[in-house]
Amino acid sequence: MFSEDDLLPLSALQHLLFCERRAALVHIERLWEENIFTAEGVHLHERVHGQSPVEARNQIRIARGLIVRSLRLGLSGKLDMVEFHQLASAPEKRPARPEGILSDGVSLTGAAGYWRPFPVEYKRGRLRREESYEVQLCAQALCLEEMLGVVVSSGAIYYREPRRRIEIAFEVSLRDETERAAKRLHILVNSGVTPSARYEKKCKSCSLIEQCLPKALSSRKIVQGYIARSIAEALKREGGV
Ligand code: SF4
Repeated sequence: MFSEDDLLPLSALQHLLFCERRAALVHIERLWEENIFTAEGVHLHERVHGQSPVEARNQIRIARGLIVRSLRLGLSGKLDMVEFHQLASAPEKRPARPEGILSDGVSLTGAAGYWRPFPVEYKRGRLRREESYEVQLCAQALCLEEMLGVVVSSGAIYYREPRRRIEIAFEVSLRDETERAAKRLHILVNSGVTPSARYEKKCKSCSLIEQCLPKALSSRKIVQGYIARSIAEALKREGGV
């Protein structure tokens, strides 16, 4: 279990899965730079959080800007939106890992019946499947499960431009991947070591490219390797004379 002081942001998982160096630059070296993609993302989240914090729509109750945390995973964050879907009948107890048994619904103040949480994360751009988004959403679900003692079986990623969302089921494989990512994130941040740069196609869309300098640092490594090999070979030749 982590203490409150050791919690890392849920959003760091997305950086980690995009690029470990990026996660380290942001969360170890405290670097940040906006580009068009991140600025649009920030604007989108601000718009969502600027809406009414609670709303009721038929069989759904909506909460925006909920602060959640998981001491088991060592994560915390502010959620864009959580829908609470009303259950047709009284909640049942269901087996769940690792807590054991969880209810499949919670009661809400001022609302009759029982409700199942369904987190919704807002993203910019076209409709698509992204592993890092799904892990981030699943981590939100694991936080809700730990805090509310309720099973969160699915959620959605809402894409602003097409105004459509993809529903994501929190299967065992996605839960395992999320737990592994949270562990890796803590190991990375605790190590205090930023991984080396390696230029890849994705670097073009990374807002930290000017600070990271992946092309320059990758080629410097090649030059350093060449110089080191040359010196080693020269020393070997000298030793052989
Ligand atoms: S520029 Fe490339 S290597 Fe550097 S942090 Fe971004 S994605 Fe990672």
